[in-house]
Amino acid sequence: MTVHVVGAGVAGLAAALALAGQRGADAGRAVRLWEAAPVAGGRCRALPDGRDNGTHALLAGNRAALGFLGAIGAREAWVEPEPDGLPLLDLADGSLRRIALSPSGWWRADRRPAGGIFALARLFGRGPDRSLAETFADRPELLRGFVEPLAIAALNTPVAEASTALLGSVARRLAWPGAARLLVAREGLGPGLIAPALAALAQRRVPVVFGARLRGVETEAGRATRLLFAGEQIALGRDDAVLFALPPWEATRLLPGLAAPGEHAPILNLHFGHGVPGPVRFVGVLGGLCQWVLFRPEGIAVTVSAADAESEEPGESLGPRAWAEILRAVAAVGIAGEWPIRPPACRVVKERRATPRHRPGPRSLPPRLPLANLALAGDWTDPDLPATIEAAVRSGQAAARALPLVSRL
Ligand SMILES: Cc1cc2nc3c(=O)[nH]c(=O)nc-3n(C[C@H](O)[C@H](O)[C@H](O)COP(=O)(O)OP(=O)(O)OC[C@H]3O[C@@H](n4cnc5c(N)ncnc54)[C@H](O)[C@@H]3O)c2cc1C
Repeated sequence: MTVHVVGAGVAGLAAALALAGQRGADAGRAVRLWEAAPVAGGRCRALPDGRDNGTHALLAGNRAALGFLGAIGAREAWVEPEPDGLPLLDLADGSLRRIALSPSGWWRADRRPAGGIFALARLFGRGPDRSLAETFADRPELLRGFVEPLAIAALNTPVAEASTALLGSVARRLAWPGAARLLVAREGLGPGLIAPALAALAQRRVPVVFGARLRGVETEAGRATRLLFAGEQIALGRDDAVLFALPPWEATRLLPGLAAPGEHAPILNLHFGHGVPGPVRFVGVLGGLCQWVLFRPEGIAVTVSAADAESEEPGESLGPRAWAEILRAVAAVGIAGEWPIRPPACRVVKERRATPRHRPGPRSLPPRLPLANLALAGDWTDPDLPATIEAAVRSGQAAARALPLVSRL
């Protein structure tokens, strides 16, 4: 009995670990992980030079993701860079505030978002699902200084088209004390997630086959019967099963007719090879190109989410624009180090289909088990959360549970 997990992004890694279980792949079934790329991690990966494809932040309320980190022995690799509230620099007037992301931190007046926090009941309650720009049209200060940065980070969708209900679902999960603590991988996604996940799978005797793109799947009478990889075909036995942990465009190519999101939004990351001594810092910027800036000894990484316009701009102009804003952030927050006026070398990473666009209205969700022996995972298949690491881990674990063989063992 073999379970073939296809796709070694976060969802596939979490699914393979759940299937292999504590005892490893000798518990009556073998687990095999197939990945098209030469590396694991998918949209959450380390690049060949060791940098991350993009800064990935988690929140303490991401219980599934933190549980997964614990299971692979990587929880300690994630640190909280701003325990005293997130610094947010407004480039329009140069003001610097520290804000708490959840109501449990708003007992301190100087950690509250500006613009009337009581209007945020529209988010924490369950009102009509409209765009965030419509929901907060009468609260421009609150929209610009709090709702928009949160929405862009969590939903990767501009507020003019982002779903109030989906951000509400995120916000409610952050409401309990401590849940909104923001965490980043101290040394990056390679040592902080991917390498420990692969080591945990190796320990459980789960082989990972890289460079293996699934080109097609044959089906008969509602079951998957054969997997067609480039260069290899796998005939599926009566007890074998398949778990797709693929992005929506690949899942729908292989299983036409599947419900899936069709439109995506890009995320840009700018990496400056300029190390910063001292602790990891994470600074938000309003009113500029940069949205979040991560300072680490390995370098500085700038995130620009929902980057529709910016992803068309050439890297040569993005670097100097971002560097000018970084210098302002450094001066405002007081980050020690050498700060040349001339921008250091900058590498721009554009992820054009970083996540689906999260709009109001019912989601286009596929069934978890579209074939009797084939389950679906992937960040886009979680019914309650936007496409994030948390959704990816939850989906991988849910798909593993959904396969009938798991309940038989
Ligand atoms: C720049 C950027 C920043 C982000 N920031 C955050 C953040 O701060 N916090 C957060 O929680 N989330 C963030 N996200 C979202 C997060 O990365 C994703 O939600 C998550 O990684 C999705 O994982 P997945 O396993 O569902 O899909 P993917 O990562 O897309 O994994 C799918 C895997 O399947 C493989 N594959 C595709 N086709 C085939 C095929 N035919 N055969 C075999 N293998 C195939 C792919 O190579 C890939 O490895 C960010 C995403 C990006 C791009």
